[in-house]
Amino acid sequence: MKAITLLSSGLDSVAALAIAAESLEIEMALTFDYGQRACRREIEYSRKVCEHFGIEHRVIKLDWLAEITHTSLVNREEEVPALSLEDIDEAAPTAITEASAKAVWVPNRNGVMLNIAGSFAESRGCDYLVVGFNEEEAGTFPDNSLDYVEAMDHAFSYSTQNGVRVLAPLIKLGKTEIVKKALEVKAPLEYSWSCYHGEETPCRKCESCVRRARAFKNAGVKDPLLERSGI
Ligand SMILES: [Zn+2]
Repeated sequence: MKAITLLSSGLDSVAALAIAAESLEIEMALTFDYGQRACRREIEYSRKVCEHFGIEHRVIKLDWLAEITHTSLVNREEEVPALSLEDIDEAAPTAITEASAKAVWVPNRNGVMLNIAGSFAESRGCDYLVVGFNEEEAGTFPDNSLDYVEAMDHAFSYSTQNGVRVLAPLIKLGKTEIVKKALEVKAPLEYSWSCYHGEETPCRKCESCVRRARAFKNAGVKDPLLERSGI
């Protein structure tokens, strides 16, 4: 069975790729450039991850999505919210995490990316699209939920001739479990970039950095990216 993986180089997509690579032939990885602040880092790190797995890497530019996106992930005039560990509640979204999710929302991002990847999958005879969707993010991002995966499978049964399916190996996991699982399958986490910003080192303040830090803390291990960066 062959798969195409959506790779942002974040903790989740790198873990999902490493898990999928254990049982599937990974045809290629797609990284999307929609003008996000971390784009340069995401492409650089995704390339390193692909080298690690020996798979083809392709960057898809979505200039039009950058143009129509006004949220802080793309628009430099908007602030990316800074959070603390106490602001994050894995079990239930809070007003703060909901506001943070809203501030970084990109219109129909996962829908666009999955549909583009679906075309690649059909044309290359691939059965699956691998994604890092997970239970923790589904709390504030409905396009990370199991319902959404099932809805996309249903849509692909009409829009692709080979019935491409979405494979989301982390769909029932929180970030702590994802870290544990990623280490188990030897995912190259030293080259995973989760930060919403694209500086030399992670900001350690944005929601994505805080969730990652919390996961490593709860898993009782040091973040290989921070160790490699000498932080
Ligand atoms: Zn950050």
